[in-house]
Amino acid sequence: MKNKTAVYPGSFDPITNGHLDIIGRAAAIFDNVYILVAINPSKSPLFKLQERIQMIEEATKELPNVKTATFDGLLVDFAKMNDCSVIIRGLRAISDFEYELQMAMMNKKLAEEIETIFMTPNEKYTYLNSSIVKQVASFGGDVTNFVPENVRKALLQKFS
Ligand code: ADP
Repeated sequence: MKNKTAVYPGSFDPITNGHLDIIGRAAAIFDNVYILVAINPSKSPLFKLQERIQMIEEATKELPNVKTATFDGLLVDFAKMNDCSVIIRGLRAISDFEYELQMAMMNKKLAEEIETIFMTPNEKYTYLNSSIVKQVASFGGDVTNFVPENVRKALLQKFS
């Protein structure tokens, strides 16, 4: 069978257990998975690009077929350059659907040969996103159950 590589793009500001759930599922299906940390000039992230990459690398170090990357350009161009035939996105709730469908359709227009595949996390992560985790952490809340340990420490440091 052909070697299958997928790319999982996002802001990952920071990576959460919801993201990790999707990454674990993807790593079990595909030969290789790139986690692509987006450079989105319209968002002002809490963590710098390098910090986000480092946190992802630490949190995924047990998964040998997962690599972290960043790219200053179109997602489909990264996919083509790295032989990724699949884009993975997470779907938690209906509220994700409209935006995700628009993105998937646009990427299909740009590169017909690349498929977007949606994966759902374990239901215990369906309410999780990076923003709510940052909000909880900013008020001194305990985020132990929502993010890996290295991210919990980084959040503590940011908000101390
Ligand atoms: P973006 O800014 O591109 O939405 P995110 O880092 O917020 O980037 O999310 C990247 C991807 O991970 C998206 O497809 C998003 O739907 C998915 N995702 C985020 N949180 C979760 C979660 N708790 N469970 C499943 N998928 C998730």
